[in-house]
Amino acid sequence: MTNRAWVTLATNDSYGLGALVVAHSLRRVGSAYPAVVLITPSVTDAMRERLSAVFEVVTVDVLDSQDAAHLALLQRPELGITFTKIHCWNLTQYEKCVFLDADILVVQNCDELFEREELSAAPDVGWPDCFNSGVFVFTPSADTFSRLIKFAQERGSFDGGDQGLLNSFFSDWSSDNNKRLPFLYNVTSAAFYSYLPALKHFGQNLKIIHFIGPAKPWLQHYNFESQSVDAPEHLKGFLQVWWNLFTSQVHNQLD
Ligand code: UDP
Ligand code: MN
Repeated sequence: MTNRAWVTLATNDSYGLGALVVAHSLRRVGSAYPAVVLITPSVTDAMRERLSAVFEVVTVDVLDSQDAAHLALLQRPELGITFTKIHCWNLTQYEKCVFLDADILVVQNCDELFEREELSAAPDVGWPDCFNSGVFVFTPSADTFSRLIKFAQERGSFDGGDQGLLNSFFSDWSSDNNKRLPFLYNVTSAAFYSYLPALKHFGQNLKIIHFIGPAKPWLQHYNFESQSVDAPEHLKGFLQVWWNLFTSQVHNQLD
Protein backbone atom coordinates (compact mmCIF):
# COMPACT_ATOMS: atom_id res chain seq x y z
CA MET A 1 0.00 0.00 0.00
CA THR A 2 1.59 3.25 -1.08
CA ASN A 3 -0.77 5.52 0.81
CA ARG A 4 1.21 4.85 3.97
CA ALA A 5 4.64 6.19 4.88
CA TRP A 6 7.20 6.49 7.65
CA VAL A 7 8.12 10.11 8.35
CA THR A 8 11.18 11.58 10.03
CA LEU A 9 12.72 15.04 10.43
CA ALA A 10 16.19 16.58 10.08
CA THR A 11 16.86 20.30 10.41
CA ASN A 12 20.63 19.92 10.05
CA ASP A 13 23.22 17.51 8.68
CA SER A 14 23.88 15.99 12.08
CA TYR A 15 20.29 14.76 12.44
CA GLY A 16 20.50 13.97 8.72
CA LEU A 17 22.99 11.22 9.59
CA GLY A 18 20.49 9.86 12.10
CA ALA A 19 17.73 9.97 9.48
CA LEU A 20 19.88 7.97 7.06
CA VAL A 21 20.28 5.26 9.68
CA VAL A 22 16.51 5.31 10.35
CA ALA A 23 15.89 4.63 6.64
CA HIS A 24 18.43 1.83 6.48
CA SER A 25 17.05 0.26 9.65
CA LEU A 26 13.59 0.19 8.01
CA ARG A 27 15.05 -1.49 4.95
CA ARG A 28 16.92 -4.01 7.05
CA VAL A 29 13.70 -5.20 8.73
CA GLY A 30 11.96 -5.38 5.35
CA SER A 31 9.29 -2.72 5.82
CA ALA A 32 6.79 -2.59 2.98
CA TYR A 33 6.34 1.17 3.28
CA PRO A 34 8.29 4.13 1.89
CA ALA A 35 9.94 6.78 4.05
CA VAL A 36 9.67 10.57 3.90
CA VAL A 37 12.13 12.99 5.48
CA LEU A 38 11.11 16.55 6.33
CA ILE A 39 14.10 18.87 6.04
CA THR A 40 14.65 22.61 6.49
CA PRO A 41 16.73 24.84 4.20
CA SER A 42 19.67 24.58 6.66
CA VAL A 43 20.36 21.02 5.52
CA THR A 44 23.21 21.11 2.98
CA ASP A 45 22.74 20.11 -0.66
CA ALA A 46 25.18 17.22 -0.17
CA MET A 47 23.10 15.79 2.69
CA ARG A 48 19.86 16.39 0.79
CA GLU A 49 21.26 14.34 -2.05
CA ARG A 50 22.19 11.47 0.27
CA LEU A 51 18.79 11.58 1.90
CA SER A 52 17.07 11.49 -1.48
CA ALA A 53 18.64 8.09 -2.19
CA VAL A 54 16.54 6.49 0.57
CA PHE A 55 13.76 9.01 1.24
CA GLU A 56 11.19 11.16 -0.44
CA VAL A 57 12.58 14.57 0.64
CA VAL A 58 10.12 17.33 1.59
CA THR A 59 11.47 20.80 2.48
CA VAL A 60 9.60 22.72 5.18
CA ASP A 61 10.07 26.00 7.10
CA VAL A 62 11.36 26.05 10.63
CA LEU A 63 8.57 26.72 13.09
CA ASP A 64 9.86 27.82 16.45
CA SER A 65 7.69 27.57 19.53
CA GLN A 66 8.94 31.07 20.53
CA ASP A 67 8.60 29.90 24.08
CA ALA A 68 12.16 30.68 25.12
CA ALA A 69 11.51 30.58 28.88
CA HIS A 70 10.21 27.03 28.80
CA LEU A 71 12.92 25.93 26.45
CA ALA A 72 15.62 27.39 28.66
CA LEU A 73 14.04 25.56 31.60
CA LEU A 74 14.52 22.31 29.81
CA GLN A 75 18.11 23.24 29.06
CA ARG A 76 17.40 22.11 25.56
CA PRO A 77 16.79 25.28 23.57
CA GLU A 78 17.16 23.37 20.29
CA LEU A 79 13.85 21.59 20.93
CA GLY A 80 12.00 24.66 19.63
CA ILE A 81 12.89 23.39 16.21
CA THR A 82 10.89 20.24 16.75
CA PHE A 83 7.75 22.30 16.18
CA THR A 84 8.77 21.75 12.60
CA LYS A 85 7.59 18.23 13.25
CA ILE A 86 3.95 19.19 13.03
CA HIS A 87 4.45 19.86 9.33
CA CYS A 88 4.08 16.11 9.01
CA TRP A 89 0.28 16.59 9.16
CA ASN A 90 0.57 18.29 5.76
CA LEU A 91 1.64 15.07 4.04
CA THR A 92 -1.94 14.60 2.87
CA GLN A 93 -0.87 12.50 -0.13
CA TYR A 94 -0.70 9.72 2.49
CA GLU A 95 -3.62 8.30 4.45
CA LYS A 96 -1.72 7.03 7.42
CA CYS A 97 1.80 7.72 8.64
CA VAL A 98 4.13 6.82 11.48
CA PHE A 99 6.49 9.51 12.68
CA LEU A 100 9.94 8.42 13.86
CA ASP A 101 12.54 10.73 15.43
CA ALA A 102 15.90 10.75 13.66
CA ASP A 103 17.52 9.28 16.79
CA ILE A 104 15.70 5.95 16.63
CA LEU A 105 16.58 2.55 15.29
CA VAL A 106 13.98 0.07 14.09
CA VAL A 107 15.21 -3.39 15.10
CA GLN A 108 12.17 -5.51 14.15
CA ASN A 109 9.53 -5.05 11.48
CA CYS A 110 6.80 -2.77 12.87
CA ASP A 111 4.52 -2.43 9.82
CA GLU A 112 1.57 -3.39 12.03
CA LEU A 113 1.75 0.14 13.49
CA PHE A 114 -0.10 1.41 10.42
CA GLU A 115 -3.21 -0.45 11.58
CA ARG A 116 -3.35 1.84 14.62
CA GLU A 117 -5.33 5.04 14.88
CA GLU A 118 -4.24 8.64 15.39
CA LEU A 119 -2.74 9.43 17.84
CA SER A 120 -1.12 6.21 19.00
CA ALA A 121 2.16 6.40 20.88
CA ALA A 122 4.08 4.74 23.71
CA PRO A 123 4.31 6.15 27.24
CA ASP A 124 7.15 8.45 28.20
CA VAL A 125 9.37 7.05 30.95
CA GLY A 126 9.68 10.45 32.61
CA TRP A 127 5.89 10.79 33.02
CA PRO A 128 4.03 7.69 31.81
CA ASP A 129 0.66 9.51 31.64
CA CYS A 130 2.23 11.39 28.73
CA PHE A 131 3.28 9.80 25.47
CA ASN A 132 6.78 10.12 24.09
CA SER A 133 6.59 12.01 20.78
CA GLY A 134 9.56 10.23 19.20
CA VAL A 135 7.29 7.54 17.68
CA PHE A 136 3.63 8.18 16.85
CA VAL A 137 0.94 7.08 14.42
CA PHE A 138 -0.97 9.93 12.76
CA THR A 139 -3.40 10.77 9.99
CA PRO A 140 -2.21 13.63 7.76
CA SER A 141 -4.82 16.40 7.55
CA ALA A 142 -4.55 20.09 6.64
CA ASP A 143 -7.30 20.80 9.18
CA THR A 144 -5.42 19.10 12.03
CA PHE A 145 -2.28 20.99 11.00
CA SER A 146 -3.97 24.40 11.22
CA ARG A 147 -5.67 23.48 14.51
CA LEU A 148 -2.28 22.45 15.90
CA ILE A 149 -0.70 25.76 14.85
CA LYS A 150 -3.58 27.72 16.38
CA PHE A 151 -3.36 25.67 19.57
CA ALA A 152 0.41 26.28 19.73
CA GLN A 153 -0.04 30.02 19.20
CA GLU A 154 -2.73 30.30 21.85
CA ARG A 155 -1.47 27.86 24.44
CA GLY A 156 2.22 27.28 23.71
CA SER A 157 3.72 24.04 24.93
CA PHE A 158 4.11 23.08 28.57
CA ASP A 159 7.62 21.79 27.94
CA GLY A 160 8.48 24.21 25.15
CA GLY A 161 8.77 21.39 22.61
CA ASP A 162 6.61 19.21 20.41
CA GLN A 163 5.96 16.60 23.10
CA GLY A 164 4.20 19.09 25.40
CA LEU A 165 2.16 20.51 22.55
CA LEU A 166 1.11 17.13 21.15
CA ASN A 167 0.22 15.74 24.58
CA SER A 168 -2.03 18.72 25.29
CA PHE A 169 -3.62 18.58 21.85
CA PHE A 170 -4.18 14.81 21.85
CA SER A 171 -5.14 14.81 25.51
CA ASP A 172 -7.44 11.78 25.16
CA TRP A 173 -4.37 9.57 24.66
CA SER A 174 -3.98 8.71 28.35
CA SER A 175 -7.59 7.56 28.70
CA ASP A 176 -7.76 5.48 25.50
CA ASN A 177 -5.99 2.15 25.89
CA ASN A 178 -6.19 1.42 22.15
CA LYS A 179 -3.88 4.34 21.52
CA ARG A 180 -1.32 3.30 24.07
CA LEU A 181 1.42 1.46 22.22
CA PRO A 182 3.51 -1.09 24.09
CA PHE A 183 6.76 0.39 25.40
CA LEU A 184 8.59 -1.99 23.04
CA TYR A 185 7.75 0.42 20.19
CA ASN A 186 9.72 3.24 21.76
CA VAL A 187 12.28 1.94 24.24
CA THR A 188 14.04 5.10 25.36
CA SER A 189 17.64 4.92 26.40
CA ALA A 190 16.75 5.81 30.03
CA ALA A 191 15.33 2.28 30.35
CA PHE A 192 18.76 0.87 29.62
CA TYR A 193 19.98 1.88 33.04
CA SER A 194 16.80 2.47 35.05
CA TYR A 195 15.35 -1.05 34.74
CA LEU A 196 18.02 -3.35 33.40
CA PRO A 197 16.37 -6.65 34.51
CA ALA A 198 13.26 -5.76 32.46
CA LEU A 199 15.42 -4.95 29.49
CA LYS A 200 17.12 -8.36 29.82
CA HIS A 201 13.75 -10.12 30.22
CA PHE A 202 11.83 -8.41 27.40
CA GLY A 203 14.75 -7.28 25.25
CA GLN A 204 14.33 -9.90 22.55
CA ASN A 205 10.88 -8.46 21.72
CA LEU A 206 12.21 -4.97 21.32
CA LYS A 207 10.95 -3.20 18.17
CA ILE A 208 12.27 0.37 18.28
CA ILE A 209 15.15 1.88 20.24
CA HIS A 210 15.14 5.62 20.88
CA PHE A 211 18.38 7.34 21.86
CA ILE A 212 16.82 10.27 23.75
CA GLY A 213 18.81 13.05 25.36
CA PRO A 214 21.98 14.81 24.31
CA ALA A 215 24.12 11.65 23.90
CA LYS A 216 23.14 10.83 20.31
CA PRO A 217 24.69 7.75 18.67
CA TRP A 218 26.48 9.84 16.04
CA LEU A 219 28.16 11.88 18.80
CA GLN A 220 29.72 8.82 20.47
CA HIS A 221 33.31 7.84 19.99
CA TYR A 222 33.68 5.03 17.49
CA ASN A 223 36.92 3.17 16.93
CA PHE A 224 37.10 2.38 13.20
CA GLU A 225 40.04 0.04 13.71
CA SER A 226 38.39 -2.28 16.22
CA GLN A 227 34.94 -1.44 14.79
CA SER A 228 33.53 -0.88 18.22
CA VAL A 229 31.85 1.98 20.00
CA ASP A 230 33.19 3.40 23.25
CA ALA A 231 30.24 3.31 25.67
CA PRO A 232 29.05 1.85 28.97
CA GLU A 233 28.37 -1.89 28.73
CA HIS A 234 24.53 -1.70 28.91
CA LEU A 235 24.41 0.86 26.08
CA LYS A 236 27.04 -0.73 23.93
CA GLY A 237 24.90 -3.40 22.28
CA PHE A 238 22.33 -0.96 20.90
CA LEU A 239 24.89 1.67 19.95
CA GLN A 240 26.86 -1.03 18.16
CA VAL A 241 23.80 -1.95 16.05
CA TRP A 242 23.43 1.73 15.12
CA TRP A 243 27.11 2.04 14.26
CA ASN A 244 27.15 -1.21 12.27
CA LEU A 245 24.36 0.17 10.08
CA PHE A 246 26.06 3.55 9.88
CA THR A 247 29.46 2.18 8.85
CA SER A 248 28.11 -0.40 6.41
CA GLN A 249 25.34 1.62 4.75
CA VAL A 250 26.01 5.31 5.30
CA HIS A 251 29.63 6.09 6.07
CA ASN A 252 31.07 4.18 3.13
CA GLN A 253 29.05 6.41 0.84
CA LEU A 254 30.18 9.69 2.38
CA ASP A 255 33.00 11.57 0.66
N1 UDP B 1 15.49 17.53 15.39
C1 UDP B 1 16.17 18.11 14.33
N2 UDP B 1 17.08 19.09 14.60
C2 UDP B 1 17.41 19.49 15.86
C3 UDP B 1 16.72 18.89 16.93
C4 UDP B 1 15.79 17.90 16.66
O1 UDP B 1 15.93 17.77 13.18
O2 UDP B 1 18.27 20.37 16.03
C5 UDP B 1 14.46 16.51 15.11
C6 UDP B 1 15.03 15.09 14.94
O3 UDP B 1 14.17 14.35 14.10
C7 UDP B 1 14.96 14.61 16.37
C8 UDP B 1 13.60 15.17 16.80
O4 UDP B 1 13.54 16.45 16.18
O5 UDP B 1 15.04 13.21 16.47
C9 UDP B 1 13.40 15.31 18.32
O6 UDP B 1 14.58 15.81 18.92
P1 UDP B 1 15.51 14.87 19.82
O7 UDP B 1 15.44 13.49 19.26
O8 UDP B 1 16.86 15.50 19.91
O9 UDP B 1 14.78 14.94 21.22
P2 UDP B 1 14.80 13.79 22.37
O10 UDP B 1 14.21 12.57 21.74
O11 UDP B 1 16.23 13.60 22.78
O12 UDP B 1 13.93 14.36 23.44
MN1 MN C 1 14.46 11.64 19.92
